[in-house]
Amino acid sequence: MPRASSPPRHPEVEIDGLLPHPATGRLFPSPVPPGTGWPGDPATAETPIARTAAQVRRLAGRDRLDTRLSLDELGARVSVCRACPRLVEWREEVAETKRASYAGEPYWGRPIPGFGSTTPSILIVGLAPAANGANRTGRVFTGDRSGDWLFASLHRVGLATQGTSVHAADGLELIDTRMVATVRCAPPQNKPTTRERDTCSPWIEAELRLLAEHVTVVVALGAIGWDATLRSYAALGWQVARPKPRFGHGVEATLVGEGRSVTLLGCYHPSQQNTFTGRLTEAMLDGVLARAAGLRETATD
Ligand code: SF4
Repeated sequence: MPRASSPPRHPEVEIDGLLPHPATGRLFPSPVPPGTGWPGDPATAETPIARTAAQVRRLAGRDRLDTRLSLDELGARVSVCRACPRLVEWREEVAETKRASYAGEPYWGRPIPGFGSTTPSILIVGLAPAANGANRTGRVFTGDRSGDWLFASLHRVGLATQGTSVHAADGLELIDTRMVATVRCAPPQNKPTTRERDTCSPWIEAELRLLAEHVTVVVALGAIGWDATLRSYAALGWQVARPKPRFGHGVEATLVGEGRSVTLLGCYHPSQQNTFTGRLTEAMLDGVLARAAGLRETATD
């Protein structure tokens, strides 16, 4: 029962700090402990936790091939990572304090694993989770304005089963497409440090390695996603043109490796900064995603 000296913020729903998931009604603390029933939670209480950059490298199989590292296991390990002290503190603080409009919801408050097809032709690479978006819902781009734009566009071009994405039990599926963030934890001011980016990089490299036989198109959202994609493929031994291709909206580059090629497409990030100012319009976003869908069809013909 709540202590008399500290009344709960939502006495109608909150029980000992637990709040109901908006879809399932199941009660969770914020942040959500692994393996407790959150929709899509890939982890269990036994999932190994990386607490240092070296442990990220080891658990992501960067230094030595880890044959147990399936895509599911990778997502589980990502989702419990604690290797960046500043980001762990921030994501958990936001989860505990909550934005007023979401004060009645539990917050995921953990890193965000990849989401979508496990054999995708198209990979979408974003920047980092939003503090009150994916950090709340536990699914990449879900529950924020950027995601509203992105999923609506993916639906219009035939790469998503629905055009809305509000929580991790809404039934949304991506079609032949997967999404990942470059940095898997919500950073203050949406700005991870270079060190945090580097610490997190083995996770995205491992995901690219596991997906390499399927992916033919990568859509990089913003310059950070673009650079992360180039860096990650280079780390896997793929050829990246020199000088490094420069990011721009609609720019295309070809990456070659493992007897395959991948087309990298640049797209302005659907951040509010870009969508409010008209720098990115729905037509521009649809154009790049439709191009990705078209390239994927060509590759599978
Ligand atoms: S940003 Fe990446 S490496 Fe750092 S704590 Fe989050 S998941 Fe781990």
